[in-house]
Amino acid sequence: MKDDSPGLFGPLPSSRVVPVLVPMPAPVAYSYAVPDGMAVEPGSIVQVPLGPRQVIGVVWDGPDAGGVDPKKLRSITKVFDCPPLDKPMRIFLDWVAAYTLSPPGYVARMALRAPAALDPEPMVEGFRFSGMTPERMTPARRKVLDLAVDGLSWTKSGLAHASGVSASVIDGLVAQGVFETVFLPPPPLVARPDPDFAGHRLAGPQKQAADEILDGIAKGGFSVALIDGVTGSGKTEVYFEAIAETLRRGKQVLILLPEIALTANFLERFQDRFGAKPGEWHSDLATRTREKVWRQAATGEIRVVAGARSALFLPFEDLGLIIVDEEHDPAFKQEDRVFYNARDMAVVRARIAGFPVVLVSATPSVESQVNCQAGRYKRIHLPTRFADAALPDLHLIDMRRHPPERGGFLSPLLLRAVGRTVERKEQALLFLNRRGYAPLTLCRVCGHRFQCPQCSSWLVEHRFRGQIQCHQCGYSEPTPHACPECGTLDHLVACGPGVERIAEEVEKHFPDARTLVLSSDLGGVKRLRLELEAIANGEADIVIGTQLVAKGHNFPLMTLVGIVDADIGLANGDPRAAERTFQLLSQVTGRAGRTGRKSHGLLQTFQPMHPVMQALVSGDASAFYEREIAERERAALPPFGRLVSIIISADTRTEAETHARQLRQTAPIERDIAILGPAEAPLALIRGRHRFRLLVHGRRTSDMQGFVRAMLANGPKERRSIQVQVDVDPQSF
Ligand code: ADP
Ligand code: ZN
Repeated sequence: MKDDSPGLFGPLPSSRVVPVLVPMPAPVAYSYAVPDGMAVEPGSIVQVPLGPRQVIGVVWDGPDAGGVDPKKLRSITKVFDCPPLDKPMRIFLDWVAAYTLSPPGYVARMALRAPAALDPEPMVEGFRFSGMTPERMTPARRKVLDLAVDGLSWTKSGLAHASGVSASVIDGLVAQGVFETVFLPPPPLVARPDPDFAGHRLAGPQKQAADEILDGIAKGGFSVALIDGVTGSGKTEVYFEAIAETLRRGKQVLILLPEIALTANFLERFQDRFGAKPGEWHSDLATRTREKVWRQAATGEIRVVAGARSALFLPFEDLGLIIVDEEHDPAFKQEDRVFYNARDMAVVRARIAGFPVVLVSATPSVESQVNCQAGRYKRIHLPTRFADAALPDLHLIDMRRHPPERGGFLSPLLLRAVGRTVERKEQALLFLNRRGYAPLTLCRVCGHRFQCPQCSSWLVEHRFRGQIQCHQCGYSEPTPHACPECGTLDHLVACGPGVERIAEEVEKHFPDARTLVLSSDLGGVKRLRLELEAIANGEADIVIGTQLVAKGHNFPLMTLVGIVDADIGLANGDPRAAERTFQLLSQVTGRAGRTGRKSHGLLQTFQPMHPVMQALVSGDASAFYEREIAERERAALPPFGRLVSIIISADTRTEAETHARQLRQTAPIERDIAILGPAEAPLALIRGRHRFRLLVHGRRTSDMQGFVRAMLANGPKERRSIQVQVDVDPQSF
């Protein structure tokens, strides 16, 4: 569909008063009058007055809210010339609002994230052959005319480039009237991907997997497939086939990726396969680019978008497939304003609009595995790496038996393995999911610990920057030399390691090796991209990194992955801790040996018998998952039961706690639903706000939303100073 003629998406008959969703925390749409001569329909994107401001809203379904004094009724001021949100999209937005217990206007706003894109892009100047012949023919002019005779329109640079002449030749022809000026729609941001550009021949198991998914596509309608295959098994190639088939059918595709800004090589890989890049969508894009992607997805110009979780709310013209790669990744959960999990909502969007969704992971979430067992999702298994590349050999280092030397954190066994790797001119990765130099600083004399003044968290030393920092709120101060408590000078000690400290230890042992620290606080996206590229090109011997290095990168020379502290994620008491640790460590160790070289993973642990460690070294994920699933079922934890977390925050502890208690007291009584707490939230203080948590626990079939809605409605009156955040299906519990 082209978007260059104004008013193409109207006019349709309109009723006099319509409901409009505005970006407000109101539970319903507001009523607005439609001025004479203005045509709107449900889904039309409009501008309306709201208090003293003009805001963007969407004409919604159903009768208007009514009850507004006709004299006070305000009018829609403008209808934007862009495609209206279609019916499935509107149902989807309503559904998300109801499920997440968020105001529908806030949810709708997520679909309208590029306001300037609501108006058509300006036309660009172009040229068309007028039929006249030039007064004097030259070889250069000949070249241009050979291309130009068929009445096509060109941009100046496009025509000059295609005919191999300089722009001044074109200028001359324009001056003579041989070419006339026309206005063209702006060029698409990305070229159209070609489904048959350069497909790989799939290996047997891949072919089988692809066929199963293509069957689903051929049948049409909603379905969910889970591609469960070890890292390097060729999952991406398999879902590329599903994308190709969807494109052949003339539908658009959305690929959700957890860390798109850092997966530059994904875009290149896509281009190699389809001859064009997908549209990119994430928060690091320039505003102009975002607006173009939004508009061109809405008009159908862009056929494939690869994006972060918020891309799920793009108003595609005709979406036909969603891929959720690394479906287990916690980054798909948004925990801000509207709390939602993009993986789960992707399934909902597909169900409403009636198209397939493909979830992809080397370590699927417990939720998705259970859905496969229950027959709701179809599991497609790829058990081995492509082309017989071996998975890394994983071994545990029992830190009780092989302790590091005094003041160090790396066992002699790990150091030796790093040394051998470097000698072979291969690459080693040391993984530690902790930014900075040391997670805690304390005074050796009085025991004072440096804590953030506004959060319940320690200040983390960042030695490269000479600061101690709070990782919750960003508070920082220069690294102190004196204890504020007892005043003693130069007796502060750094406790525990962060990546910077590991780098120091590595440099001491391998002064000649090229080491590189990869951590989000050491540079923006641009720098990180360059560093990832440098690693892939073999420009570093030893990489020390946080979880940034875990995500999908392909490092051909990497043959050793050392996990500095495999136990780090197990300590926090969260029932999901084991699953998360297993997923993260599988993913990190999976960076090694992707191009067939023999590779190793060494995991430093104090708990070698822990089921996670055993599952990792045995390579038997299924036993581990079965246990996890059985435990969740026994405790009726998700996905066997349901949870809603309600966080109440206030400036004082008492205020937060009192409000939480009252909320609990006035809650309805429901046989299958229990309320746990209030208790201090896992982070009891953030940015000076004290936080208490109520955890609502129900059965799989309980009406959790109804219960929580009633609870909030009966509860104490909301006060400005108190904030209540509702998180349905919380990440940690
Ligand atoms: P995964 O997504 O499971 O980690 P990939 O799809 O990235 O696996 O495949 C791993 C490697 O094998 C990649 O370098 C990819 O290009 C290559 N590969 C996978 N399938 C094929 C194929 N059918 N033909 C050629 N190369 C392939
Ligand atoms: Zn802080």
